[in-house]
Amino acid sequence: MKIARFSHNDGIRYGILDGDEIVVLDGDPMFAGYETTGERVRLGDVALLAPVIPRSKVVCVGKNYHDHAAEMGGVAPEEPLLFLKPNTAVIGTGDTIVRPAISERTEHEGELVAVIGRIAKNVRAEDALDYVFGYTVGNDVTARDLQRKDGQWTRGKGFDTFCPLGPVIETEFDPDAARIETRVNGEVRQEAPLTDMIHSVADIIAYASAVFTLLPGDVIMTGTPAGVGEIVAGDVVEVEVTGIGTLRNPVRDAAPVR
Ligand code: MN
Repeated sequence: MKIARFSHNDGIRYGILDGDEIVVLDGDPMFAGYETTGERVRLGDVALLAPVIPRSKVVCVGKNYHDHAAEMGGVAPEEPLLFLKPNTAVIGTGDTIVRPAISERTEHEGELVAVIGRIAKNVRAEDALDYVFGYTVGNDVTARDLQRKDGQWTRGKGFDTFCPLGPVIETEFDPDAARIETRVNGEVRQEAPLTDMIHSVADIIAYASAVFTLLPGDVIMTGTPAGVGEIVAGDVVEVEVTGIGTLRNPVRDAAPVR
């Protein structure tokens, strides 16, 4: 099932994708189940929003693909390298990524994203997928110069608009059978099977939940394959995961600081 969050008649609604229509749900299915309102709306008549706004945190894993660790000039760490993005960075498909004026190099990182559906603390890897509500697509947008300059990643990865998520949450998804591809203006920049991930979704959830409690609506960005690169004003960046969909975001420069 593909779950959409969208604005419609001045309200924010959830629904299930059915071809080019959305079956409208009574509430957020993560908490309210799948009761429908009886309404159907045309996909083309609504604006899709980020399918989830993380309640407490966007959990990210750095260097979770060997070829990306290599292009960053190192090797992948043995354990998942965790960092957080603020939930204020989240935007949906179609929204604009804004390149900050204080950075000289903004880059795309296409990633598979797991959406947590139940409170998770100290879960075992073999039980971890029971805590996943579904999967979506993300872009871990990064001000690469600031990431390098700061020596840690909060600023470089934390700007508003630096966490596009969407277009929908797929509740029945098998990462082992899917591929990820990132395109800029239609040109393929990143392309890999999700089986290239070093640490699996289950392993990451077990590892992270030993550190902090994961809440329903928190998301896990699972790392990016090789091919990260610059995006500039006027570009359109697309991240596609087979079986979920395509997250598409235009890019512009922030207004100059006066
Ligand atoms: Mn990343």
